[in-house]
Amino acid sequence: MKEVADHHQPRIEVHPLLKITVLWPSGAREMLGGAVPEAPHVTRVISAYSSAYVLPAAEGAADYIVIDAGMDTEARNIRATLAELGAAAVGAIFITHGHLDHVKGVNSLGAADIYVSDHDEPYLLGHKRAEGFIGTLAGKLPQKARPDRERVKLVGNGQEVMVGEKTVRAYHLPGHTSGSMAYVVDGVLFVGDALYFKQNGHAGLSPAPLNWDSQVAASSLSVLLEQLDRDGIEISAVVPSHSGAGTLDAVRVLADSDQRG
Ligand SMILES: [Zn+2]
Repeated sequence: MKEVADHHQPRIEVHPLLKITVLWPSGAREMLGGAVPEAPHVTRVISAYSSAYVLPAAEGAADYIVIDAGMDTEARNIRATLAELGAAAVGAIFITHGHLDHVKGVNSLGAADIYVSDHDEPYLLGHKRAEGFIGTLAGKLPQKARPDRERVKLVGNGQEVMVGEKTVRAYHLPGHTSGSMAYVVDGVLFVGDALYFKQNGHAGLSPAPLNWDSQVAASSLSVLLEQLDRDGIEISAVVPSHSGAGTLDAVRVLADSDQRG
C-alpha cells in the first residue's frame, strides 16, 4: 500500500454561510487524507471540508471505486490521489447524498456510472436544490458539474452492484437528506453525513440544523443495523465524511440511546 500525501487544498468557492454551518462540531475525530487507518485499502481524499473515498475494484486493480466526489468541480485532489495510487480509471462512483460537497466533482472523474438514490437524484442532476437548510444556502448544482443523465443509475435499499471483483451493497439511510445512502464494500461501511465520530470514539448524529429530519436520521440507524445483522454483514470500520472513522459498536450505542429517547 502506497502512502498518499494529503494534498494541498484547491481554491474552491464556498458560500460563507455554508462554510460556517458545515463546520463539524468541535470534538469530532480528526480526519486526515490518505490510507484510512482502520481500513488501509481505502484512501480518504479531503476536498475542502468534505471527504471522498477511493478503493481498488479488485486486489491490485487499476480500476477504482469512488465514494462521493467532493466539493471541487475539477476533482483535483481526487484525481491526484488516483494518479498516485496508479489508478487507470474510475469504475463507478457511489453518491451517499446530493449535497454539493459530495457531488461537485462527478464530471471530472471520467465517464463512469454514478449511483445515487431516487430521492437525491434531482440534486445530482441539478434539477432541484437539496431540501432543508443546506440546500437553501447552497442552491442547485452548477451547470458544468451536472452529469449526463445516462451516466446516472438509481440505487435502492439492499441493492448490490458489482464493480470489478467488489460487491458494493447499498442501504437507504434517510435523515440527513431523504435519499441518503450508506454503502458497504469489503466490510467497510461508508455513511456519508449520517453520523460522525467524536475524539473519544463515540458516535453522534449530524447536528440537527444540517439534517432534513433528525428523528428519521436516528430511527434509520436502527433499521440499518437490523439489516446488516439480518444480512450477516460484518463491519470492520464505519467511515463518515466529516470525521475520522469508528466502530459499528459505537453506532449501536448511538442507535440505542436514540431509541430510549
Ligand atoms: Zn451533507
